[in-house]
Amino acid sequence: MSLLPAGGAGPLRFGIRLRLFLAFVAVAVLSVAACALGWLSYDRLGGTLDEFAESHLPALGLAAKLAEEGGAIIATAPILAGSRTEAEMDAIRDALGRRLAALRTLTGAIEGGVPGLRPVVDALGRNLSELDGTVRHRLELARRNQEAIERLRWLHADFLDEIEPLVADARFNIQSALASVESGRPSADAVRILREENRRSEAVLQIGANGNLAVGLIARAATLATPEMLDDNAGFLDETAGRLRRDLAALADWSDGVSLGQVVGQLLGLARGADGGVPALRREELETAARGQALLAENREVVARLNGLISRQVQAVETDSRAAAARSARAIAFGRSALLASAVVSLLVAVLVAWLYVNRNLITRLTRLGDAARAIAAGDLKADIPLGGDDELSDMAAALLVFRDTAIAVEEANAQAIIDNAQAGLAITDAEGVIEFVNPLAAALIAPPPAGPAEEGGEAPRLADRLDAEGAARVAAYFSRMAPSQTAGGYGDGAAAALSILTTGRRPDGGAVPVQVGVRPFWRRQRLRFIVTLTDMTERLEAQRILERRVRERTADLRATNGRLEQAIAEHRRTERELREAQAELVQAGKLAALGQLAAGVGHELNQPLAAIRSYAHNGRKLIELGRTEEADGNLGKIADLTARMANITNHLKRFARRPDTRLGAVELEPVIQGALSLFGNRLREEAVAVAVELPDGGPPLRVRAEEVRLEQVLVNLLSNALDAVAGVPVRRILIRAEASGGGQDGQADGVRIEVRDSDPGIAAGTVGQIFDPFFTTKPVGTGLGLGLSISYNIVRDFGGVLSVAGSGPGGTAFVLTLTRA
Ligand code: ADP
Repeated sequence: MSLLPAGGAGPLRFGIRLRLFLAFVAVAVLSVAACALGWLSYDRLGGTLDEFAESHLPALGLAAKLAEEGGAIIATAPILAGSRTEAEMDAIRDALGRRLAALRTLTGAIEGGVPGLRPVVDALGRNLSELDGTVRHRLELARRNQEAIERLRWLHADFLDEIEPLVADARFNIQSALASVESGRPSADAVRILREENRRSEAVLQIGANGNLAVGLIARAATLATPEMLDDNAGFLDETAGRLRRDLAALADWSDGVSLGQVVGQLLGLARGADGGVPALRREELETAARGQALLAENREVVARLNGLISRQVQAVETDSRAAAARSARAIAFGRSALLASAVVSLLVAVLVAWLYVNRNLITRLTRLGDAARAIAAGDLKADIPLGGDDELSDMAAALLVFRDTAIAVEEANAQAIIDNAQAGLAITDAEGVIEFVNPLAAALIAPPPAGPAEEGGEAPRLADRLDAEGAARVAAYFSRMAPSQTAGGYGDGAAAALSILTTGRRPDGGAVPVQVGVRPFWRRQRLRFIVTLTDMTERLEAQRILERRVRERTADLRATNGRLEQAIAEHRRTERELREAQAELVQAGKLAALGQLAAGVGHELNQPLAAIRSYAHNGRKLIELGRTEEADGNLGKIADLTARMANITNHLKRFARRPDTRLGAVELEPVIQGALSLFGNRLREEAVAVAVELPDGGPPLRVRAEEVRLEQVLVNLLSNALDAVAGVPVRRILIRAEASGGGQDGQADGVRIEVRDSDPGIAAGTVGQIFDPFFTTKPVGTGLGLGLSISYNIVRDFGGVLSVAGSGPGGTAFVLTLTRA
């Protein structure tokens, strides 16, 4: 059976591959649709933007340029109108001409887009050329006005030149006539002359005054700003001209006034309101300027119209742009929604496929299948295999089922092979203990193999039948106890469920065999079975018997050895006791040796009082003989004292010689030191050895934990050695110093340090390590046994103290004895 259709060769099946393929195709189609929608909306957006860029942007640019040119014209036209010279005017007119030409070109380019633009531009051209003509005329008038004013200045000068001689002549003639009158012989016409000259001079002075006024009014007319002011000025000028004419008429008969009359006539010509008069020129100039202003206003109005057209155009473009932007926004929004919708649908499809199909169907089934495969691999051949569906997974499940059945078959075959080849006897019984199966070893031990299953009519031996009475009873009890487990579906506590007994089996040939029987329940295909292990115990029991015999023999050996050991221990204890006694003897011997040495000194010590006693006794007897009983009594008293002293010495010797007490107690130090010294009194004196004893001043006497006699023995020994050591040196000194030592600080018990120092040349360097050894001596034979320090060392150790050499050299040797303070 093919689990998966092989690469397109097999029939097309609606399996996992096809389903997943279709799901992916659906998602892919949705993605392509989303792309197509996006593409379409961007295409629409692009079209809108192209259209905008092609049709509206140039129009906008042209409109902006038109507005710029119009603005430039509005700005330049007033400058043209206000031009002061023709050159300036020509330059501005050229600039305006260029602007106008540019405007015309733009109009040509934009014409289709802006209706009514060309007439406006034409009107602007006309307005500008009219303005140009007006300005040119105004400049002409200004020039002429300027010339008239120039002429007026010259005429005024001529006028003044005419007036002054006439006034001077008249004044001279009047003076001459007056002089002839005053001389008393006046000429006949003196009075006439006076009258005539007076009239003329008045007229000349009137003409002079009005002439000056007329010049001022003419000059003023050239600069007046309005026609109304010109009208007012013309009134004054006419009046002044009338007066001038009247005064001139008065001088008509006077030949000297002819040229004045001509000058005044020319002045009046300049004062005329028409035909080249200054006021007329000024009026025309003002009118031309007003015309120029009107043209400028018209210019502004035309440009405003132009701007209006442009702004309408811009508005139209803006409206179009807004419409295009709105279309673009709609296109974008549509594209976005379409993309979002297709993405959501793709996601939905993907999620549905992933969740409903892949997760809930595929993964769940795969997990169950995996669990089943794992359980089967772990040996649970009863694991449930999910078989539903019709796809590749159901194929796999079917394959796993086949695998499991094969595994069960193989396992059973293996189990059978293992049981057959096992080195122990194995049997399987049913729940009642009926033997279903035995392997060859078990068959040899208890039974032949069953002839066949009971239902086939074969003989069905029970396990109990193949054991002796006791074993049979226990096995039967076990099976009846286990029977309820069959329905309960388990066997409870494993230990309680197993049975292990040593019993006797019946061989197939009827012989008895010791056998270890182990019974343990197990489940096979939902049925309770028991596996029975049978071990032939014949050899093992034999081995055990041999072992027990060996143990018995070994135990007897050990007991004998033990007796010997106990004997040896008793021997050892006895030897130890003897040794101890020997050591005590040795101590005593050492002491007696010291005593021996001391004896001579003591004898000497006793000699002196003895001699004195003898002398006192002899003298006493003589005194008694002489009847001097009182004096004799004195001698007897002295004798008594001396014997007391001698008794003291011998007592001390006796005490020292006796066996010491083994118990320790508090011993006051000073009497012991003094006692030891007293044994050497004679020797110290004879050998001139200076002895110093240093004990702490004040306070309670020093007491140590020791035994008095043995402590004195140690001190005697140390003093004796010191006396021997200083014997050959010139300065002989011994110092005994005792002090409390050790403090409470380091937690040690308080101690007492006793130092015995002498002034000997020091112990030879190589021998310091040996001096405490027994029988080590450097003294001549007969004087030293070499036991003193060895015994002292052990005594001090028994006291719980230490004896050591604190130092030895040319300055002397010091032994230190440290004891516990009592
Ligand atoms: P003995 O006195 O019988 O020789 P000891 O055991 O008392 O035995 O002393 C052993 C040796 O230690 C002495 O022979 C001597 O050489 C040395 N010795 C002991 N005390 C002193 C001392 N104070 N100064 C120098 N040597 C000493």
